[in-house]
Amino acid sequence: MIDDDLMRKLRGKVHTDEWTRLINSVDASHFQINPSMVFVPEDVSDVTNMCQYAHERNIPLTARGGGTGLLGQALTQGIVVDISRHFNRIIEIGERDVLVEPGVVKAVLDKALKKKGKFLPPDPSSSNFCTLGGMIANNSSGAHTLRYGSTIDYLEELDVVYSDGSMSTVGPSIPPDHRCGSLLPMILSELGLIAASYPNTSKNSSGFRLDALVRNRSYYPQRVFAGAEGTLGIITKAKLRTVEIPQFEILLVCEFQDLTCLLVSIPRILSFHPSAVELLSFGRLSSGQLQHNEKGLTDFPTIYVEFSGESLTTLEQRADLCRSALRQSCISSEVLSDRASCNAAWNERRNSLNHILRFSDGSKKAIGIIEDTIVNPSLLEEYIPFIQGIYNRYKLDYVMYGHIGNGNIHTRPLIDAQSTMAVEIIEHLAHDVFSKVRELRGSISAEHGDGLARSRYIKQMFGADVYWLFVQIKKIFDKKNIMNPGKKV
Ligand SMILES: Cc1cc2nc3c(=O)[nH]c(=O)nc-3n(C[C@H](O)[C@H](O)[C@H](O)COP(=O)(O)OP(=O)(O)OC[C@H]3O[C@@H](n4cnc5c(N)ncnc54)[C@H](O)[C@@H]3O)c2cc1C
Repeated sequence: MIDDDLMRKLRGKVHTDEWTRLINSVDASHFQINPSMVFVPEDVSDVTNMCQYAHERNIPLTARGGGTGLLGQALTQGIVVDISRHFNRIIEIGERDVLVEPGVVKAVLDKALKKKGKFLPPDPSSSNFCTLGGMIANNSSGAHTLRYGSTIDYLEELDVVYSDGSMSTVGPSIPPDHRCGSLLPMILSELGLIAASYPNTSKNSSGFRLDALVRNRSYYPQRVFAGAEGTLGIITKAKLRTVEIPQFEILLVCEFQDLTCLLVSIPRILSFHPSAVELLSFGRLSSGQLQHNEKGLTDFPTIYVEFSGESLTTLEQRADLCRSALRQSCISSEVLSDRASCNAAWNERRNSLNHILRFSDGSKKAIGIIEDTIVNPSLLEEYIPFIQGIYNRYKLDYVMYGHIGNGNIHTRPLIDAQSTMAVEIIEHLAHDVFSKVRELRGSISAEHGDGLARSRYIKQMFGADVYWLFVQIKKIFDKKNIMNPGKKV
């Protein structure tokens, strides 16, 4: 229970009733943890007061946005700090950036930016529900990361409240506070280790992003909060870079005989510089109860290849050349150039995970553990058959889709959750697949994060020396380990 002194200071509400705690005990993962209370701050001083209070008493605190995290990132036994309710102002839309509070829902920001011809490119399929705070803390991305990068690439400045209640504005042109200041020499002395240990991929949401903090002799301390899952501080304001919406888009839809033909074609497709290359839901479902089309799965592996830019003629030429190059390998192809057809096609792709989250066959469920691994796209021909081989070994049905142009595959096996073998199978799968990911210098998480499900594999992925750095960083920012404990380290 909160003491009277603090209650008098707070403007926001503290909820301890069973119903509010129950709602906040789940997110979009398989986990459930009951928080001791849910705090809904009204302003920054509410956040700092609550952090000070929790810090003095060693109570864990976890920020929560839309609660759409897939790995249990926003779940805690301590205090949930619900940022989504009151921190939802778009403060200022500038020429090349936007200043927002972290509770703004991505789709709401998209709508406001569109009026100015701008957008914030990372586009999770959950954009109608997820918040910018959650996107930053998970380093979210989406179909257009191939051309535009992930949330980390758009972070300019952040206001952060640390575990002891102190506040800081963090950015490349602001003198670093003592936490960000003491991080820098540590990074500079380990640049070689970091370069050798981080994944050779275009996206990564696993661990802390130490590889992105120093570039071209400049220090970008705000990036340490990208993908940190709220373990280093609570973000209360963010300045994000925006870009112009491209004038034209063209979509090439290609169907292949099998996955091998498709994978062989990826490097060729990438040579035409598409803005997105997406694999639609595809998989193996042996049960008679599960019909492919009913469950949103295609019969033949199908990809979307998007070209976007300012000249329709150039885009049409690129799409035609790409289509000709694929003529031998794909069984059908179609070019969509009108907005309505492109939007309809993209909606189908966006719904992939929604379909899959509803997958069940009796007690068999689509389990999110491998989830969103990534390897360099040139290695997909080795990596995907490897995953299929493992599914075969355990006789598991599965579904696959995702951002194949980046080498980022979303895949879930159907596992009988009530079987006594379920936990053992999940652990074997994770061990085998994550070992292969490490061997190929990929990442166990391209965009969905580590959370409760995968934090324990971080040491395996980065090695003991980098993991030791992660522990030191956690100590610098949150000595008492009260900020979303159990995630990352
Ligand atoms: C159907 C579906 C589709 C999805 N598709 C995608 C996709 O295409 N791409 C993708 O990247 N992800 C996707 N996701 C995952 C998820 O939606 C994203 O990671 C999203 O950005 C999470 O945002 P949220 O507001 O729901 O965060 P939450 O789940 O509430 O929180 C996520 C993490 O962020 C932290 N956090 C939240 N706010 C703050 C803050 N203000 N300060 C510090 N930490 C904070 C939390 O503590 C937690 O660790 C999908 C999820 C679903 C359910």
